[in-house]
Amino acid sequence: MPCVCSDISRREFLCKTSAGIAVCAVSPFLPELAHAQPAFPEPTHKARYWEPLGNNIVRCKLEPRACEIGEGERGACGVRENVGGVYYSTVYALPCSVYVGAIEENFLHVLPGTKALQVGTAGCNLHCKFCNTWQISQTRPEQAPFESLSPEQLVERAIKEGCKSICFTYNDPVVCFEYVVDTARVAHTRGIKAICHTAGYINDEPLKELCSVMDSIAVDLKSVSREVYTQLCGVNADRVFAAAYLVKKSPAALEIVSPMLPGYNDSVQFGRVMGGWIAKNLGVDVPWQLYRFYPAYQMEQVPVTNITAMQEVCKAAQDIGLQHVYLCNLARPGDTSVHCGKCNAKVVDRQGDRCSIVGLTNGKCGKCGYEFTGVWE
Ligand code: SF4
Repeated sequence: MPCVCSDISRREFLCKTSAGIAVCAVSPFLPELAHAQPAFPEPTHKARYWEPLGNNIVRCKLEPRACEIGEGERGACGVRENVGGVYYSTVYALPCSVYVGAIEENFLHVLPGTKALQVGTAGCNLHCKFCNTWQISQTRPEQAPFESLSPEQLVERAIKEGCKSICFTYNDPVVCFEYVVDTARVAHTRGIKAICHTAGYINDEPLKELCSVMDSIAVDLKSVSREVYTQLCGVNADRVFAAAYLVKKSPAALEIVSPMLPGYNDSVQFGRVMGGWIAKNLGVDVPWQLYRFYPAYQMEQVPVTNITAMQEVCKAAQDIGLQHVYLCNLARPGDTSVHCGKCNAKVVDRQGDRCSIVGLTNGKCGKCGYEFTGVWE
C-alpha cells in the first residue's frame, strides 16, 4: 500500500476567522484588536467538573493538572475563572475562530469531501512548544478576536454554510468543554455531526461524556516516549495514552495525529515503536496521520520535517501492519485516498481537494466487505 499524503494544511485557517480577521497577524496586533471590538463580557456560564475547597477556593477536575484557584483567578489554561467561589467558563459561546474548511484538514475517515465548520476559542490546557495555532491557544480570551455564537447559532451557521459537521479544533476542546458538549447535542438534533481534535489531556469522567456526544475524536499523540512528552508539552504522557485507549473503546471513531518533529519523532525507529504501540493498543485499522511540522512558536529554530523521513516512518508503520497511514500538511497537492485494509481496493479517491467515493457502501468495502473505522454517512 502506498504512503498517502495531504496538501491540505491547518495553517490555512490562519487566513480566515469568524471576525474576518487574519489570525496570523493577531499576535503583534492584539492590543489594537482588543480595542477595535466590544469589551469582553463577564463570565456568566458556570463551568462543570470542579469542586469547592473552602475559603472560596475551587479545584478544577477537568484534567490531571487539577488547578486550585483562588477567588478572582483563573486556571493555567487562562479561560476558567473563579468568581466568588463559583467556577465559570469565560469562553462559553465566544469562539475566536470560526472557519469553513475541508473536513480533511482534521479528519481523513469522516465524511470525505465535505465541509466542516471549524471552531476554536482562546486558551489551552497544554503549552506545547511546537504549537502551530499558538496565536489562539496561548492567548487569553480578552486578547483575541471573538464572536458571540450560542450552540444553536453555531449549528445554524454550519447549516447555512453547507457544512456536514462542526469540528472543535485550533485550541483544545477540553478547556471549552461546556460549549463543545452543548453544541454537539444541538448539532445532532439538526443532523450535523460533531467532531473534535484534542491533545487528550483530560480526566476519564469528562472524556467519557465527550465521547458520548462526539461522532469522531482525533487524538494528538506526539510520541510514546514519556521523556519527549515532558520535554515538549510538560505533561504526563500516560494520561494521553489512557485517553486514546478510552476513545477507542467508546462509540466515537478514533483518529491519531502525530506532528513529526525533526530530531524527536521522525525516525524509522519511531515509526516501528509508535506504529507498534498503536497496533497493539488501538488496533491496526485506526487511521494515523503523520503531520508535517513547520517551524512555529518556541520551535522556530527546528527545520521543517523532511518528506523522505515521513515516508520512511509511514512505511515502517505499514510494515508492522497499520492499514491506514497518511502523510498530512504537505505543501503540494497529494493523495489521501482510502484503501481497504483487507483487499487494498481503493474506496475513496482523494487527490488534493478532489474527492470521490468509489467503492464504499455503508462504511464497508464494496469488494470484500471490510468494515472501516470512521464516520461515512
Ligand atoms: S482545564 Fe484549565 S483550570 Fe482546569 S485543570 Fe486544566 S489548566 Fe487548570
